[in-house]
Amino acid sequence: MTRILITRPMPARVLAEAESQFEVEVRDDNAPLKPGQMRGALALYDGILPTLGDMFSAEVFADAEGSRCRILANFGVGYNHIDVAAARAAGIAVTNTPGAVTDATADIALTLILMSARRAGEGERMLRAGRWTGWNPTQMLGSHVTGKTVGIVGMGRIGQAIARRCHFGFGMEVLYYNRSEKAIDIPARQVASLTALAGQVDFLVAAVPGGPETQGIVGPEVLAAMKPAAHLVNIARGDVVDEAALIDALREGRIAGAGLDVYAREPEVPEVLRKMEAVTLLPHLGTAALEVREAMGLMAVENLRAFFAGDELPNPVN
Ligand code: NAP
Repeated sequence: MTRILITRPMPARVLAEAESQFEVEVRDDNAPLKPGQMRGALALYDGILPTLGDMFSAEVFADAEGSRCRILANFGVGYNHIDVAAARAAGIAVTNTPGAVTDATADIALTLILMSARRAGEGERMLRAGRWTGWNPTQMLGSHVTGKTVGIVGMGRIGQAIARRCHFGFGMEVLYYNRSEKAIDIPARQVASLTALAGQVDFLVAAVPGGPETQGIVGPEVLAAMKPAAHLVNIARGDVVDEAALIDALREGRIAGAGLDVYAREPEVPEVLRKMEAVTLLPHLGTAALEVREAMGLMAVENLRAFFAGDELPNPVN
């Protein structure tokens, strides 16, 4: 029987579906796989259902040619932890779970826009600490969100879902920067340079994939172009934003705030960020809703089913 390794505990529905089709082993550990465990898994299982943190690097695949494993069905749309070219060279297919994550992640982007602009985290901390002295006309004045301008970096599925929420929900003007030219179905304008985009918006939202091509693209130059009243939101991957440059910009008051869901060295978050009031920090909650995680898992299992049935892969990553 086809043997599958699922590298983390999963919602019950996902496990039931996987177990109805395969001989499944589920790791009872939420820590990422270590290189030796990944090599062992490639040798022992026909397919692996890995996720964020399982760093399937070129070194891990180096001796994998001819190994038992034929497919990595990633749980998640982001696959920058897998060296896809090295997997291909070892004859291993890679799939992901696009679409299932789109709305939930866009919702978290809006959560961060609102929390950062309206100082929600800071206000909650103040109240819980017993420091709230009561309403007054000048208490904790934040920035208005409705009618402002949002700049989206990476106008893919999630970028467009954020744009729709900003346009229809908050009457915002939508500008965006994207690798290729992209037409979308709401009023929005593509801007040719990321720095030029940064200078024109009240909220700059990163929604590109992680990896070498996007590493640090929100760096010192882009942050310097932002308006002092603007906020940066990152729901993409931590390394898309130059964390040290962001800390400098916040410390020097060159931008008003930041809302982050992802970090360069997760789960490590710089202490200096954790101490700043003008920063909203979420623990990578983008897709953290039961039905979303179920949909992601079922999609990954469907990719495994299709692969071993010889059907066309629903979500191949190239
Ligand atoms: P997607 O549909 O593939 O969209 C990515 C967009 O980014 C595409 O429009 C792409 O442009 C653009 N892009 C890629 N490289 C670029 C570059 N160097 N410069 C400018 N634009 C670039 O992916 P998605 O489903 O929206 O997901 C986006 C990312 O969000 C994922 O890869 C993942 O890392 C992250 N994510 C985070 C969470 C979370 O929990 N916080 C949850 C889900 C996803 P083209 O049109 O040229 O391809």
